[in-house]
Amino acid sequence: MNSDRAAGATPAMAQWFQAKADYPDALIFFRMGDFYELFFEDAEAASAALDIALTARGTHQGEPIAMCGVPVSQRDTYLTRLIRRGFRVAVAEQVEAPEAAKARGGKALIERAVVRLITPGTITEEALLDQGRASLLLALVPRAGRIGAAWLDVSTASFETADLAGGELAALLGRLDPAEILSGADIELGAHEGRRTDPGPPPAAELARRDLARLFDVASLDAFGAFTDQEAQAAAVALRYVERSQAGTLPRIARPVRAGETGLMAMDAATRASLDLLRTADGGEAGSLFGAVRRTVTAAGARMLAGWIAAPLDAIGPLRARQAGWQSLLDAPGTLAALRTSLRGAPDLARALARLGLAGRKAGRLSPRDLGQVRDSLAAARAVAEGLAPAVAADPAHPLADDLAKLAAGPELGPLLEAALVETPPARIGDAPAIRAGFDGELDGERRLRDDTRQVIAALQTELASRYGVASLKVRHHSQLGYVLEAPAAAVEALRAFPELILRQGLASAARFTHPELSDLDRRIAEAHERAAAREALVLDHLLAAVMREEAALAECAAALARLDALQSAATLAESGRWCAPELSEDAAFSIIAGRHPVVEAALPAGTRFIANDADLSPERRLMLLTGPNMAGKSTFLRQNALVIILAQAGLPVPAEQARIGLVDRLFSRVGAADDLAAGRSTFMVEMIETASILNQAGPRSFVIIDEIGRGTGTRDGLAIAQAVLEALHGSIRCRSIFATHFHDLVQLGAALPRLRPCTMRVKSWRGSVVFLHEVIEGAAERSWGVHVAKLAGLPEPVIRRADALLRAAERGGGEAGALPLFAAAGEDPAPPAELPAADGWHAALAEADPDQLSPRAALELIYAWRRKFLGDRADGAVEKQ
Ligand code: ATP
Repeated sequence: MNSDRAAGATPAMAQWFQAKADYPDALIFFRMGDFYELFFEDAEAASAALDIALTARGTHQGEPIAMCGVPVSQRDTYLTRLIRRGFRVAVAEQVEAPEAAKARGGKALIERAVVRLITPGTITEEALLDQGRASLLLALVPRAGRIGAAWLDVSTASFETADLAGGELAALLGRLDPAEILSGADIELGAHEGRRTDPGPPPAAELARRDLARLFDVASLDAFGAFTDQEAQAAAVALRYVERSQAGTLPRIARPVRAGETGLMAMDAATRASLDLLRTADGGEAGSLFGAVRRTVTAAGARMLAGWIAAPLDAIGPLRARQAGWQSLLDAPGTLAALRTSLRGAPDLARALARLGLAGRKAGRLSPRDLGQVRDSLAAARAVAEGLAPAVAADPAHPLADDLAKLAAGPELGPLLEAALVETPPARIGDAPAIRAGFDGELDGERRLRDDTRQVIAALQTELASRYGVASLKVRHHSQLGYVLEAPAAAVEALRAFPELILRQGLASAARFTHPELSDLDRRIAEAHERAAAREALVLDHLLAAVMREEAALAECAAALARLDALQSAATLAESGRWCAPELSEDAAFSIIAGRHPVVEAALPAGTRFIANDADLSPERRLMLLTGPNMAGKSTFLRQNALVIILAQAGLPVPAEQARIGLVDRLFSRVGAADDLAAGRSTFMVEMIETASILNQAGPRSFVIIDEIGRGTGTRDGLAIAQAVLEALHGSIRCRSIFATHFHDLVQLGAALPRLRPCTMRVKSWRGSVVFLHEVIEGAAERSWGVHVAKLAGLPEPVIRRADALLRAAERGGGEAGALPLFAAAGEDPAPPAELPAADGWHAALAEADPDQLSPRAALELIYAWRRKFLGDRADGAVEKQ
């Protein structure tokens, strides 16, 4: 903001211009009494986004100043809406009381300062956070062909880094789904482009390392691991940004952990997008895998479960530990029910702790409610521990023994908070009493004094009434005058005779006087209030310090509560008896008995039964070629097997009767590509890019599902590509794979590829129509029933009749291996034109052509020439179709 723009501003507007200059890309919420006001372009943007009235307030440089405002009491509602719409908001508060400004001189301006910059990735406020979802800030720094990544969740203090090859970024973005991404324009963010914030150039690597070491109070960053330069830079960028967002105070952040992708099953962005893991394309949880399996009862548990699904493991030990965890609950149904009850309603300890950590570093941020949440979490932890103890104590190697131990955090803290805090502590200090009577003698004393003063007022009123002989004299509080004596109009004249009574207001029916004894009372009451408030703040600070002393143990307790909730969710799912624990191994096994698609199953109309299907991709039959009519359930079957793998490698139960799964290192799902025109890629190009990525990265431990390949190009090209891809999957990549296609001719490859198993979807043909049985059986489809599905979809009757006729003609003429139905149909057109052009010279030309002497090119030319001669205009049409 240049100074010309601010020239001639009123003092208050000068403050606004300063805030805007400091935070040029944020809306300034400028506190004025009971409102946050927005001015100029901010007002225009906010009034449109929030649908609130745009007004004007005074003028600046001869122009009216556009203004809109939101009441302080509704701050969070409006902030949430603005942040969700991608705005950043700088909150400029009045940082001194109006009285303090007044004391400096009649017209002194109240001091204001930006106390908080709120951006999508730096939210700590409970009301603004999405409960069940992590809120990640990701920083990216490119260097020497690689990308340093650091991501943290300010709301829970977690902090991780990774060093990536450029090609790995999309997968990381897909996995983390960050709320905000700090990155210069030189890194492509694809679908996440809208979340970019450019933080400016990163600090030099050395400086970044020094910054981090100082911040975490270690001599060298190496204390936490071998961070690359770009990782250290990204970590520093993220922390500096958070610090700025909290107006200079860094909240508590855990030490950075190098995450990398080791131990994780790899999934690229296209695979994630096609499987709707946490959310569907429209952003909702309903219809996603997470939505179908979530049985958690706390927000922290939901976040942990979502984390497991978003990042399946490729490490058998931790997976078996998770399985053992929920199975132990399943084996003890009483314990499971008790656990659910104790967890239900447990507050979000990790997030409360993060806010308290911030309050510890910044005066005025302490919310007694957060202390109450720690107290209630500890109570929940105790109840959970009591429920688990009998089962766990009976077995020293019990899978939940570690979690149980962590629940015993801060044994003295719980009773302390219980004794200290009122049942429902207020969100802000001073809104209501936070400390119980009887906890702190001194506070009780101050409060008594404050409350007694009220009785003193009553006594003084009686005394003054009798002193001045006016029985109806009342002591009242007036917002500007403080305590006054109010007398009926009739008594005014008599009272004016007393010099200590000063008439301040004369109304029709009454008059108000000030009185030295009342002024004194005023001061004493104010002081008692202040002293009580100060004492309460001191007691709260003491409680905060007690909480922060136990911070590490509390963080572990929070993690144990979240994990137990995720495990009880898994056990609850398995309790129905329709989900099983998969048998995991490190070989290439894959055998699913009666598997189901959890989301499609849940969405079926009442009365429709989901047909369970087996899948056997054992090494000797690891490549399944699935043909079958449209709408028969091929995509469903493909996806359900991918989802079973994800659930199994998240350590969760799977929707099947039985499952044996050799751990998958990379999962690829290529189903129904859409174009990416923004990136200049056609549908077919996207399809080929995704296929290339599979062929270049898949290995023998990978799992690939491909739904239709080569449909977006000429039929011959498509068929050729599909066959070549199948051969590569079978011969060189040798991974487990399900390949669905409408190229029925590919089934013949079974003879040449011994591990390929043709399978198909069973259908029943009934009076020319088809009934889909949704059952996978060995064999090949005879036809696609596409025309039938087109009819169901409502294509016009004449088009259906014509397509049906063409198809039947093609079927009569076809049958030869490798024949292409489309072209056969064109050749065997059932309604040829009545008159063909004369075949002059046809025999002669045929006799002249010596096939042995013709080059392929010349042969092709000849064919074209004959077709043109033979078919006339219609030949061009056919050529075009190619
Ligand atoms: P297309 O080739 O046209 O893409 P498709 O063979 O892939 O079709 P799906 O999309 O998987 O077919 O399934 C179509 C519909 O059939 C689903 O939306 C679902 O309603 C139903 N369906 C699929 N599988 C089953 C099943 N196993 N049991 C019951 N209904 C199923």
